[in-house]
Amino acid sequence: MEYNKKVVTLVYGCQMSERDAETLTEITRHFGYSPSEDLETADLVIVNTCCVRESAENKILGKIGELKKLKERNSRVKIAISGCMVQQPGALERLQKRAPHVDIWAGTHNLHDFSALLRKVEQGEKVAEVWQEPKGTLEVASFAEKGKLHANVNIMYGCDNFCSYCIVPYVRGRERSRKPKEIIEEIKSLVDSGCREVTLLGQNVNSYGKEFTPALDFADLLHQVDQIASLLRIRFITSHPKDLSDKLIKAVAEGEKLCEHFHLPIQSGSNFILERMNRKYTREYYLKRVQQIRELIPNASITTDIIVGFPGEAEEDFEQTLTMMKQAHYSQAFTFMYSKRSGTLAAKMEDQIPLDVKKRRLQKLMSVQNSESLEWRQHMIGQVVEVLVEGPSKTNPQRLTGRTRGNELVVFKGDLASIGSLVHVKINEAGTWTLVGEVESNRGIQSFM
Ligand code: SAH
Ligand code: SF4
Repeated sequence: MEYNKKVVTLVYGCQMSERDAETLTEITRHFGYSPSEDLETADLVIVNTCCVRESAENKILGKIGELKKLKERNSRVKIAISGCMVQQPGALERLQKRAPHVDIWAGTHNLHDFSALLRKVEQGEKVAEVWQEPKGTLEVASFAEKGKLHANVNIMYGCDNFCSYCIVPYVRGRERSRKPKEIIEEIKSLVDSGCREVTLLGQNVNSYGKEFTPALDFADLLHQVDQIASLLRIRFITSHPKDLSDKLIKAVAEGEKLCEHFHLPIQSGSNFILERMNRKYTREYYLKRVQQIRELIPNASITTDIIVGFPGEAEEDFEQTLTMMKQAHYSQAFTFMYSKRSGTLAAKMEDQIPLDVKKRRLQKLMSVQNSESLEWRQHMIGQVVEVLVEGPSKTNPQRLTGRTRGNELVVFKGDLASIGSLVHVKINEAGTWTLVGEVESNRGIQSFM
């Protein structure tokens, strides 16, 4: 087939959204599109959306507005808007009114059927399709791009937790796990085309396989993935603390390729707020989980997500979040101001927090976490850590970058030939976000390519 048409894919939100965007881009290949980054010469622009916070939605609405101008300059271009924002109950009609220049609207459950929509649009129609439920298992196999070192692999979809602030269960549907065989095959094919690191994706990977008979849980799946030859590293997100089993911690401690990194969102350090968030754990329980990780895996890196300004959050609740940061010793935290999502329970709570208070708390939280992140990295000075070499550093092309098993970013002097391999780097300097080091020459490069 002749590849003469260009598709630009823009993606907002989490890794699952990124993965969906890859699927969409791949589907367009069968229609003769090749990926591009230049909007001006594009024949098709896909925007895969996120609606987890209002700030994301505002950015996306701004982009959709810009695309209207693009279409005025270039009437040939087709515009597709897909994903979570479109899937929100009642959103489609509102969006269509606001953006009549869009050619394809697609929800999260019918992304895999994107080819049918694209076919119609190529014949001059405008289409909108948002299925209320996923129909069967519509997995489009992951497409291994040549030379791509890292890949995201879905292991499950949806979420059953209904945290009171969160829109995800409404736009991603109920939890469903992919069969281990499918996952393993997908990873093997990725590895065959050069991939060395996978991140297994799910909103709550710890409840993977709940529905399977005979029983097979996430730790069992990890054990199987760990056996795949030539794969160097396995990561996973996200672990809901309430379901983090000892068996899983043990699996990570023992697994050869399983990286010692847990993304364990706490959301708040206050039991009162955790209860209102419907997180189903207490601060004390969470800290015990952290302790268990540290006992079995002393070097484990733990990262988290935190929301400030959840309805009813008093100053003392916020203080408890701050003390939690100091107790848990996170290597990194993703911090957010609570954003009201219509349709969720928390949106109806009365004691919403004013924006200025949320902003102040976010600033304070970030400054506490920044010093924690720095301290975490400083304790690594002098250590020799395993790094998967990704490529030249964006800020300093004379240096290479890569990540430790704990997912810390490292910048170091090294040989371009080591890209895609594991090297041992001695850490000499540490900043809040980055470690600086040098390759330990006596341990050399372990090449697996
Ligand atoms: N499944 C994951 C989280 C997915 S959403 C988990 O349970 O940990 C990613 C993060 O966005 C959440 O951890 C939370 O910190 C944040 N988030 C979700 N809804 C939000 C809202 N309404 N306002 C602000 N932050 C929110
Ligand atoms: Fe949202 Fe909670 Fe599900 Fe995470 S576990 S996606 S925060 S509802």
